[in-house]
Amino acid sequence: MTAQIIDGKQVAADMRAELKAEVAELKKKGIVPGLAVVLVGEDPASKSYVTAKERACEEMGIFSDDNRLDADTSQEDLMALVEKLNNDPKINGILVQLPLPKGLNEAEVLLAIDPAKDVDGFHPVNVGKMVVGEKAFLPCTPHGVLQLLMRSGVTIEGAETVIVGRSNIVGKPLANMLIQKNPTGNATVTVCHTRTKDLAYHTKRADIVVAAAGRPNTVTADMVKDGVVVIDVGVNRVEDATKKRGYRLVGDVDFEAVKEKASLITPVPGGVGPMTITMLLYNTVESARRAAGIEA
Ligand code: NAP
Repeated sequence: MTAQIIDGKQVAADMRAELKAEVAELKKKGIVPGLAVVLVGEDPASKSYVTAKERACEEMGIFSDDNRLDADTSQEDLMALVEKLNNDPKINGILVQLPLPKGLNEAEVLLAIDPAKDVDGFHPVNVGKMVVGEKAFLPCTPHGVLQLLMRSGVTIEGAETVIVGRSNIVGKPLANMLIQKNPTGNATVTVCHTRTKDLAYHTKRADIVVAAAGRPNTVTADMVKDGVVVIDVGVNRVEDATKKRGYRLVGDVDFEAVKEKASLITPVPGGVGPMTITMLLYNTVESARRAAGIEA
């Protein structure tokens, strides 16, 4: 069997078209969703993420408020900015780009964001709501994984699902989403990590494998069964002298070999990656709707 490739770029483009139409509808009611992005320091990767987020807002008709601060910004000044954005009615979402420069207290900053504007879904109030199955802003990357599964017609209900990785931003929230007693949940979920005794034992019996370990070749062809659905969240740089920049990006899955056994698989790049920013835009539009008292 050769897998069908899940085209994350296409799914993201479809969702962005839907969102753009929603933003246009909201504008007719005088509502313009607004996202504030806060970047502290000069980290090149963070700068390029922030630029991509701002460009995506522009394309969507979402108001983007760019806040770039020097690396030596004090905790007090950063907290004051978050407070100002919390109180700004033009802002529906606040995104503080992580990691913050050394010396700044990330946890304190994230906790200061109004949960109603926490479009990253990292505030403990939103995490708690997600766990108990209440309406919450879902963290963007695992929500993107869920959308890829749903929009590819994968049966999640009852599926043996193995997640490799238990981080607070991917593995843990995804496990929580997939075990919810609702139509987009009802999976049987196993979460693996570096202390898992026999990773292959778990992945071999899985109908769905989600790899979010941050290590190339964590999932190889001998570790999965025929017909498995594979979502590769990993983004890893491996040296490649044939590339101008000296490296290429790979996921956590041995894509070429695993695609010969899987029924569906995401590539890296072009799989989960394009979904993450899309889900941030989705949460920002949702926040604007809620602020205006409009139900989806
Ligand atoms: P992380 O915080 O480093 O967590 C990695 C998790 O994988 C940990 O729970 C770790 O276990 C587990 N792990 C690592 N090696 C393993 C192995 N050999 N076997 C089993 N478990 C293993 O990483 P993250 O932030 O969740 O990100 C994971 C990957 O996804 C990274 O490559 C990251 O770049 C990528 N990512 C992509 C997007 C996107 O938009 N495409 C977004 C977020 C992250 P322990 O807990 O025991 O250490």
